Amino acid sequence: MNELLKRYEDVIAPVVGWDTDLHIVSGEGAWVTDVEGETYLDFTCGIAVSNLGHRHPAVTDAARAQLDKLWHAGGAFRYESLAAAGEAMASVAPGNIDMFFFMNSGSEAVEGSVKMARSLTGRQGVVVFRGGFHGRTMGSVTYTTSKSKYRQGYHPLLPSVFVTPYPHPFSWGMTQDEAVDYSLTELHRMFRHEITPQEVACFLVEPMQGEGGYYPGGGRFMTELRGLANDNGILLIADEVQTGFGRTGDWFTTPTYGVQPDVIVLGKAIANGLPLSAVGANRELIGRWAMGSHGTTFGGNPISAAAAAATVEALRGVIPEVPALSEQAFTKLNGLKDKHAVVGDVRGLGLMIGVELVKPGTNEPDPEAFGHVATAARERGLLILDCGPDGNVIRFIPPLVVTPDELDRGIDILDEALGTYRP
Ligand code: PMP
Repeated sequence: MNELLKRYEDVIAPVVGWDTDLHIVSGEGAWVTDVEGETYLDFTCGIAVSNLGHRHPAVTDAARAQLDKLWHAGGAFRYESLAAAGEAMASVAPGNIDMFFFMNSGSEAVEGSVKMARSLTGRQGVVVFRGGFHGRTMGSVTYTTSKSKYRQGYHPLLPSVFVTPYPHPFSWGMTQDEAVDYSLTELHRMFRHEITPQEVACFLVEPMQGEGGYYPGGGRFMTELRGLANDNGILLIADEVQTGFGRTGDWFTTPTYGVQPDVIVLGKAIANGLPLSAVGANRELIGRWAMGSHGTTFGGNPISAAAAAATVEALRGVIPEVPALSEQAFTKLNGLKDKHAVVGDVRGLGLMIGVELVKPGTNEPDPEAFGHVATAARERGLLILDCGPDGNVIRFIPPLVVTPDELDRGIDILDEALGTYRP
């Protein structure tokens, strides 16, 4: 057992779980190096966080400069980096979203968004979509239905949260259109049988589901939700924690679908790895959230905020390259689908791509396949994560700064790893 593993076993609670026993000592760009000096292509990206790769120089410089000035403020006084972070977000957020409340984690921001929706609408109902992931705190885990294990042992969860289907065409053996029709029919049934739309404060939805299996919602589904929200005074909250900051090929995914959310939830890549999250909305809406009715000690930390402003600046030069990298990745990954019977589906947007591993010739998940392929890939120098309720979807999320050569190399390793799997 490596020495670090022993120290972890002594003092670090095992509840989170680690994908590997690797002891990583440093990271740069798309690469990490372990204690033995072995290097790995890191396509786990800190769970879709380090979109600019590890230790991006501009973000490092901004964080270091802030570290030399002021680390923490709480709510006692104001500091420049938070204004800079807010301005950076306003410059890239969808449409009219121009004001932000900063927190620490995605879960916390989700909680904040729903609290705001309840407070501003005076309604209690929250509608979420099966397969969604919104976090692990008590409220956010109530909204999370990507895996029942995440909820197991924690009931009763929050009341007045209603779960309705999200289009999962591959899993259901349907086309995208059929899956959207089915999901919308069920949503209308929910309004007829369980809660009237007039009692619903918000739809909380990922424009592309992440942890739930990398399913893009698609423009028609998101547009229908927008219309229902408009017609019934419901706030549309887009959880873009995982889909944001260039991951799907543009700054955010709702604009890709031509949909304007009322509220956006931001996290993960917002500061390229420093802890930060935010809820954003138009000033007319978020400005009505009564002062003092929500708060945080560490939220909008000065260093994280400085890193966020630098992250947005650096991403301006990176995001335009994502569509070409995406095309390269899709072409090669679709090639793997033709070659390996265990690959059932390749889907996604930008560099947020799910490669679903199935029992050959079916759409039935093969839960064993991912573990085998991930180990074989690691032995060849590539780190990957899974997603989906059965853990059988390769979550393909290289950093957005990956070079075309690194991308090819990562997919070639996947090809070899898939070739070693015997279902
Ligand atoms: N929303 C989405 C869409 C996420 O993917 C996640 C994290 N995987 C969260 C919320 C929760 O974020 P955090 O882990 O930072 O609390």
